[in-house]
Amino acid sequence: MNAATGTPTAGRAIQVSDVVKAYPSSAGEVVAVDHLDLGIDDGEFVAIVGRSGSGKTTVLNLLAGIDRPTSGTLHVAGADLGSLSESGLAAWRGRYVGLVFQFFQLLPTLTVAENVMLPMDFAKRIPQGERLDRARRLLDRVGIGDQAGKLPATLSGGQQQRAAIARALANDPPLLLADEPTGNLDSHTADAVLDLFADLNAEGRTIVVVTHERDIRSIVGREITLRDGRIVTDETAPAGVPE
Ligand code: ADP
Ligand code: MG
Repeated sequence: MNAATGTPTAGRAIQVSDVVKAYPSSAGEVVAVDHLDLGIDDGEFVAIVGRSGSGKTTVLNLLAGIDRPTSGTLHVAGADLGSLSESGLAAWRGRYVGLVFQFFQLLPTLTVAENVMLPMDFAKRIPQGERLDRARRLLDRVGIGDQAGKLPATLSGGQQQRAAIARALANDPPLLLADEPTGNLDSHTADAVLDLFADLNAEGRTIVVVTHERDIRSIVGREITLRDGRIVTDETAPAGVPE
């Protein structure tokens, strides 16, 4: 952020400035995010870790424009989120952000390929005649091209998460946000999914992943630890030096 103009700096995927998110509760206010400042550059692969209740999901939902902050500003993937209407946010998100969740959230009555085509139908950026081909290519890319015509329930958990990642890539977003994407997978499958994220990052995508994986630091370039809605550590891996 350029402090003088308040505009986001080029090359910066995410700029969070003094963001507070408070929820009303019967016991008073719950401050889920407490005066958060966070900058993430284009092409970074960042893990957000911390105990349950530390604010990880709230931060991700704020970055995705799913939630609005109580105060503060978020510049994400070229947009000042506070300046967008709900429909503007939905259109922005559909184009610039790929979302991946713990429980996959595939639509059970659609085939895997149809699930991947849904964001394309919504954003209308990919011509209609190219959508099925693109869905198949994305499913190939994540390693489950042979599952395209099946219903999600017939896939393993790891395959469903790969399908969800293909769906997140539907409109070729520069930013991927994933909330505990390995939380419902066995450790071997979880490693494979994290390797896929690493490959997608190597292709130039900015990735922010909330995770409980203990050995995430060997994969990501930066690990941020939250506690009570604040950053308590923010560690960058030394470039090119293996753990
Ligand atoms: P994490 O993902 O790290 O487990 P969350 O972001 O889900 O943490 O939650 C952070 C804090 O905010 C917790 O104290 C949680 O109870 C509270 N919280 C989250 N969502 C809501 C909500 N919709 N209403 C009230 N409190 C909430
Ligand atoms: Mg959470």
